[in-house]
Amino acid sequence: MAPITHEADYVVLGGGSGGLGSGRAAASRFGQKAVIIENKRLGGTCVNVGCVPKKVSWYAATLAESIRESKAYGFNVEHTAPFDWPTFKNKRDAYIKRLNGIYERNLANDKVEYLHGTGKLLSKNQIEVTQDDGSKVLVNAKKILVAVGGKPHIPPEIPGAELGTNSDGFFDIATQPKKVAVIGAGYIAVELAGVFNALGTETHLLIRHDTFLRTFDPIIQEGLTKEYERVGVKLHKRSQASKIEKDANGKLTVTYKDNQGNETVLTDVDHLIWAIGRVPETKNIGLEEAGVKLDDKGFVVVDEYQNTSVDNIYALGDVTGQLELTPVAIAAGRRLSERLFGGPEFATRKLDYTNVPSVVFSHPEVGSVGLTEPQAIEQYGKENVKVYTTNFTAMYYAMMEPEHKAPTKYKLVTVGPEEKVVGLHILGLGSGEMLQGFGVAIKMGATKADFDNTVAIHPTSAEEIVTLK
Ligand code: NDP
Repeated sequence: MAPITHEADYVVLGGGSGGLGSGRAAASRFGQKAVIIENKRLGGTCVNVGCVPKKVSWYAATLAESIRESKAYGFNVEHTAPFDWPTFKNKRDAYIKRLNGIYERNLANDKVEYLHGTGKLLSKNQIEVTQDDGSKVLVNAKKILVAVGGKPHIPPEIPGAELGTNSDGFFDIATQPKKVAVIGAGYIAVELAGVFNALGTETHLLIRHDTFLRTFDPIIQEGLTKEYERVGVKLHKRSQASKIEKDANGKLTVTYKDNQGNETVLTDVDHLIWAIGRVPETKNIGLEEAGVKLDDKGFVVVDEYQNTSVDNIYALGDVTGQLELTPVAIAAGRRLSERLFGGPEFATRKLDYTNVPSVVFSHPEVGSVGLTEPQAIEQYGKENVKVYTTNFTAMYYAMMEPEHKAPTKYKLVTVGPEEKVVGLHILGLGSGEMLQGFGVAIKMGATKADFDNTVAIHPTSAEEIVTLK
């Protein structure tokens, strides 16, 4: 039987944050016939195995900390309250399932057609969708958006690497592990290590250098690395895993090397989690055959308007290797639909990728917007950069013994005689909720004087950012 053929103005390959944002905007705002193709669950990485279940896990970990800390405020609690991991996991899974349903209904409300299956480009205007039962559907498309995202990388060159899991597998862990090893030094490694440690799992974090989050400002790298050591994360610095094995009890043995090649062995590990970056999902979906240019890491090459090398094919989100953040993909997706379908008013619409704020949900959280101090010096010259920093203990810790006090550190990076703020880097309780508003000010071009002219809110930690000397 010949496959059924659908006709569409706009076909989106990938039902994650960016694809949904763009497809829904095209249909609901501009009346386009849009089709979204997804072979897993709607919502992509963020909803299913990323931001959302991660943040819920971070809340659980933060509650564990609060329970411990409440003793200092006079609550008569045990040092550690028992945590029922399976109950928590089931509730978290159910929440994600509800979200999947909401996403599907949103597509129906916006009159976007949803095809569940794996899409493959047959030409620059045609996609073949293989559905779960093996049947095929063809979609003829005037325009195509590639928003298939990425997946965690597991290093094939390390023997036994496949015995470990990754951030996707983290959400399948059914019972609380006694001992874990997390390998990596970015957002995911730091967030997952923080969750495990706060919930009472013995947590080993293997990093290749002396600090983690090395793309962040030194105040954050150094401050948070030290804080993780203080709260008991077992940091293995200058370490690179060389071999993973399974012992007779089903536990993992992780062998790693230091800079001199000396080997150390970590035994009895319940789970090893690779968190060493992500790779694009660009294999076997017909991109190269359709003429879409990929870079040497497999990311789709795009210009500032999300155009690929083929004139009616666009790409955005993690598949392009631009900032791998959900709100970035959504913003790029909506702007792309405005540009493609919104008429002359939106002809030059595109996402500005500068001054994008982001937060690592570590313990405590860290946040960053704009340039780090080294980046500002490189861009503007040391003589034109002025930096303001503060380092204090938040009032929340006033009731606690010195050994239980976590640090708060802020850095404002300014340039030129007008002291334009080009970067803000914050570490401490509440940073996750604090940064967004400052992000607005910095995007608008605020100067240090604008910060100083803003009356402080007292008593908060955030007030220190508008009273920096
Ligand atoms: P990242 O790219 O952030 O970090 C991975 C880091 O792991 C590298 O920077 C590197 O650090 C280290 N690394 C690389 N290869 C190896 C190796 N072979 N062995 C040991 N360490 C290695 O990747 P993530 O996987 O953490 O996250 C992917 C992206 O997802 C992030 O960049 C972020 O954009 C996004 N994300 C955002 C979150 C948020 O907004 N809160 C949360 C989670 C993810 P080094 O060079 O120092 O060794």
